[in-house]
Amino acid sequence: MGSSVSQPDCLFCRLYSEGEHVRTEDGFVAIKDINPKAPVHLLVIPERHAETFREVGLFSAEESKRMLEFVAETAREAGLEDYQVIVNVGPGAGQTVFHLHWHVLGGGRPFE
Ligand code: AMP
Ligand code: ZN
Repeated sequence: MGSSVSQPDCLFCRLYSEGEHVRTEDGFVAIKDINPKAPVHLLVIPERHAETFREVGLFSAEESKRMLEFVAETAREAGLEDYQVIVNVGPGAGQTVFHLHWHVLGGGRPFE
């Protein structure tokens, strides 16, 4: 189980430190999804490496609150009023990168 702040060989640990960020705050970044499923498709990535949302307890109450506020603020700054926030938990739900991240999708495409 990933429980440290940074894991070697983790794509999102690497993108946290060297990626192109559309928004940053201490402990969190937002990036553009490389394969967007909507006109706006951003990923919020916390610095702390947790493999899935199941391990959300690794985050302190304060960190969890700040993470959710960062998700909401990322959508707001992207100009989204109505949008989806999605977390895929486990391969059976479509998770492909095992570092907790939040999809923010919106921008005019009818939601399915
Ligand atoms: P998930 O399938 O929920 O684990 O989401 C992983 C997301 O990361 C997918 O939507 C991918 O398109 C996206 N992704 C993979 N590699 C990159 C990358 N290098 N830069 C930005 N997004 C990526
Ligand atoms: Zn990681």
